[in-house]
Amino acid sequence: MNSIYFLRDDLLPFSFGGNKARKAELFFKDILKKKCNCVITYGSKASNHCRIISNYCAKYNLDCQIISPLDEEQKDTNNSYLVKFFGATVTTCKVEDVKVTIQNVINKKKEEGYNTYFIEGGGHGNIGTQAYVNAFSDIIELEEKNNIKFDYIFHASGTGTTQAGLIVGKHINNSNVNIIGISVARNKDRCSKIIYDSVKSYMEEHKIKNNIKLEDINFIDKYVAGGYGKYNEDILNTIKDVLLNYGIPLDTTYTGKAFWGMKEYIKENKIENKNILFIHTGGTPIFFDKLKEIK
Ligand SMILES: *Cc1c(COP(=O)(O)O)cnc(C)c1O
Repeated sequence: MNSIYFLRDDLLPFSFGGNKARKAELFFKDILKKKCNCVITYGSKASNHCRIISNYCAKYNLDCQIISPLDEEQKDTNNSYLVKFFGATVTTCKVEDVKVTIQNVINKKKEEGYNTYFIEGGGHGNIGTQAYVNAFSDIIELEEKNNIKFDYIFHASGTGTTQAGLIVGKHINNSNVNIIGISVARNKDRCSKIIYDSVKSYMEEHKIKNNIKLEDINFIDKYVAGGYGKYNEDILNTIKDVLLNYGIPLDTTYTGKAFWGMKEYIKENKIENKNILFIHTGGTPIFFDKLKEIK
């Protein structure tokens, strides 16, 4: 029998936690250090990322500009409601106009006299990577405290920043753990390359010798269930099962999908008698969006 452990990053204390909270904490250290007073970022207004960025901006009284892709549904969600509540300005545009729109907003804010700071969507970049290099140290500490060794780490992988940080952490700490990112949307070739580039960029900035190969990156795109935000009956049943038996909320877009994908992966690869760590990357407001679908 496998033993499954949870790292509850959903319980990080700021704004319903999650991996975006881990990343944003470091971004805002940098923002405050550089004395910026306007934060510009990209993402769906329903995203965990935009919720946390706009909450931090409200806390520190900074102007918050969010560039969001137009979506046909335009349905309000818990996150999009919170983004509004935190007072962020949301500018929507077509996906193909994202780059120019971001640049226009930056220029406009600079003209207005703001000292601007741009955060890539999802908190991508070396600072975001750093958050999960740090998380890997927490994981090593957990192992030592509990006298266990994890054979596998599974987590939901989106932009790949979380996974890149874990891979760097594994490298720095000479760990043998298998890190498996379960894709929530993107395909393997594209995202493995993005993760590889994130690792490389971080290693270069921190002058760490890098011998990580593209083929060492385990980004599994077999369980995307039709694409970003899509889910199936098995995912809903997984969410129900984990909530009933462990009291842990998983959502349909990220953690529920990844936990289901992990279970399938374990079955298909006949993984037995291993210590497995599942990183709960957050998304509590999304859990409540879909609460009534869990029956
Ligand atoms: C954004 C997000 C992810 C994906 O993280 P990446 O670093 O972009 O790969 C996973 N889980 C949750 C809950 C998220 O909000």
